[in-house]
Amino acid sequence: VSAQLATYMDARGEPRAALQIDGHIYDWASALERFDPVCHERLSRASSVLGLLQHWDVAARVLDELADKIYTLDIAPRSGPDTQLLAPVLYPPAVFCSGPNYTCHLAEMTGGQRTDIDKRVTRPFFFTKPAAHTIIGPGAPIELPRLAAKLDWEAELAVVIGKPAYEVGVERAMEHVAGYTIINDLSARDLFQRDDWPMWKDWLACKGFTGAAPLGPTLVPANQIADPHNLRLQLWVNEQLHQNSSTARMVFSIAEQIAFLSERVALRPGDVIATGTPAGVGMAKGVFLQPGDRVRIEIEGLGALENPVTARGARRTSSEQ
Ligand code: MG
Repeated sequence: VSAQLATYMDARGEPRAALQIDGHIYDWASALERFDPVCHERLSRASSVLGLLQHWDVAARVLDELADKIYTLDIAPRSGPDTQLLAPVLYPPAVFCSGPNYTCHLAEMTGGQRTDIDKRVTRPFFFTKPAAHTIIGPGAPIELPRLAAKLDWEAELAVVIGKPAYEVGVERAMEHVAGYTIINDLSARDLFQRDDWPMWKDWLACKGFTGAAPLGPTLVPANQIADPHNLRLQLWVNEQLHQNSSTARMVFSIAEQIAFLSERVALRPGDVIATGTPAGVGMAKGVFLQPGDRVRIEIEGLGALENPVTARGARRTSSEQ
């Protein structure tokens, strides 16, 4: 039995850490209290997934033990509308997003002018999204920004840090990974170039607008993913398959990305790294997201992240928190 970490909204509207086991959601703190009150004392302040990540060495072990024992604990799974999942990490200290990290995506974004990344002379690059402003959960509506006409998708494997990482080498970088989830690195393509500031790229407007980072559905611990560089990754808009690739095709590996980032910033537990997207984004085809669309991303072993697209200010239903 394996358990993933999730965040759900309880009946009082509070986000709480949860385990997802065989598709059922269990409140983390309640399960832990039944399982091991002593351990519960140590992790009692960790009612959020971010709190658990700050004690990840202990929490990861307890998570595995809880998964094995859950059916002996006489604890009922949550059911009903209060089990609406939120993004699994609320909120990461930072969301770091890789620049082009699949050559097929680089080629489509440069009109075929650049088809290769020479790792002897090229290093990764990253931009950031303001975490609390951009992250939304599975099922939550993607609101079309009023300023943007060209809202685009990017399916990406998201890496979640579980152990502080500062100046770590490539060889040991993976020891700092807590787990994996899915991120949609949304882009307002028409807000990127600034005519009033020649040569400038407006990263905030293009990548950091409200709701620009759908994340989820759960955090899958690293020990459940045999090889994060061999996962099928697919994205649909409505019924149409737009992206269909494998994380095997990343240029800079997860370890190389962590090592590079950690030379510049001290990575913290909960930090999310979006590892780049393969070809198939809307920009290359002149197709963009419209109200009424549904975007669905699947990554092998990580489930599916699906979000509807709505006009700004559209009324939400109670199931779309
Ligand atoms: Mg991206």
